[in-house]
Amino acid sequence: MAKIHAGDCDFLSGGTDLLPNYKCGLNAHGHVISLQHIAELKQIGRDSKGAFTIGAGVTLAEIERNTEVPRGLADCAAHVASPLLRASGTLGGNLMLDNRCHFFNQSYFWRRSLGYCLKADGDRCHVVPQINEGGKSVLNNKVCVATHSSDLAPMLIALGAEATFVGPDGKRTIKLNDFYWGDGIARFDRKPGEILSHVTLPPWAFNVRSGWKKLAPRQSIDFSVVGVAAVLELDGDKVKTLRVALGAVDTTPVLFDFSQQEKRREPGHYLFVDAYKNMPEAVGKKLDDALIETIAKHVQTQAQPKLNVPMAPDYRKKMCGVLTRRLLTELRGGGK
Ligand SMILES: Cc1cc2nc3c(=O)[nH]c(=O)nc-3n(C[C@H](O)[C@H](O)[C@H](O)COP(=O)(O)OP(=O)(O)OC[C@H]3O[C@@H](n4cnc5c(N)ncnc54)[C@H](O)[C@@H]3O)c2cc1C
Ligand code: SF4
Repeated sequence: MAKIHAGDCDFLSGGTDLLPNYKCGLNAHGHVISLQHIAELKQIGRDSKGAFTIGAGVTLAEIERNTEVPRGLADCAAHVASPLLRASGTLGGNLMLDNRCHFFNQSYFWRRSLGYCLKADGDRCHVVPQINEGGKSVLNNKVCVATHSSDLAPMLIALGAEATFVGPDGKRTIKLNDFYWGDGIARFDRKPGEILSHVTLPPWAFNVRSGWKKLAPRQSIDFSVVGVAAVLELDGDKVKTLRVALGAVDTTPVLFDFSQQEKRREPGHYLFVDAYKNMPEAVGKKLDDALIETIAKHVQTQAQPKLNVPMAPDYRKKMCGVLTRRLLTELRGGGK
């Protein structure tokens, strides 16, 4: 069925993101295919090979209540939207969430009055109206900076998750960190007709401390305007593994792997933040207040929030550092 409609269909899981967008006339397709009754997408737990997998159709409420998943992930799921939305919203829908922007998440009437924008129906960006091309400032009709707003994506990236897709050309598995790519329109590397089947957590994700903090206008219901996920493994008081991932500050989640095992994709795929530029050393060092401060400063310096979701970019940038510091301090003490 996916092959028949590939290119002109959307998949529907819980519908908590897709349906509000359809109501606003945002990039609606000719066909909507429901995934709600595919039992295989609803499995959570160890598979026959002992790997821990979470099906794309598992709801956020189920992840929140699951006692086996890393604590950071359960906590992250527990802070998405509201209990009602978490009862319908799924992992798959959360990881494929559309990017958000003041000028995009509006009614058709509202957007028409402004002349639309690049991400839906228009030919210009209202957030970054001009770009530099060959030394000249020209109209930006190329790059959308809409904010990536999924909470679970940065948490699962920090935990080293892999995503498995099935589609007309078969099955493929990709590091979740490599899946997110490009500007606020492209967002990720999903092929036409593909559905996310499940994510798999590596064994080491169960031996580390993990946590999540989010900044939102209201702690209940609102989308994050900064999300910080962290994973920490200590050898005595020395750092063995330290990964921080930011959400809601760019067009994709941003991984800072201070253990330097996973690099970001090459510049050119990634538009705004270079997480690895001047990255401080952490592995083998004592995780004292000074090191936490250095790491928090680095995350804050590299973060580049845009003025297209609530709260001022300068404040959100500062909060990237503040939340990183708070989270690492908590994890050093053993977590919540
Ligand atoms: C008021 C409000 C507050 C919210 N707050 C938050 C928040 O704080 N944090 C947050 O992260 N989200 C938030 N959300 C967004 C949303 O509720 C959740 O992200 C939810 O998990 C989306 O899942 P869903 O199953 O409802 O997605 P759907 O709406 O069904 O789908 C979303 C997108 O994913 C695609 N999709 C779904 N499943 C698959 C699959 N298996 N394979 C391929 N594509 C798929 C759909 O085609 C669609 O493009 C909020 C939404 C609302 C309305
Ligand atoms: S950032 Fe993207 S969604 Fe926002 S106005 Fe620009 S093109 Fe539109």
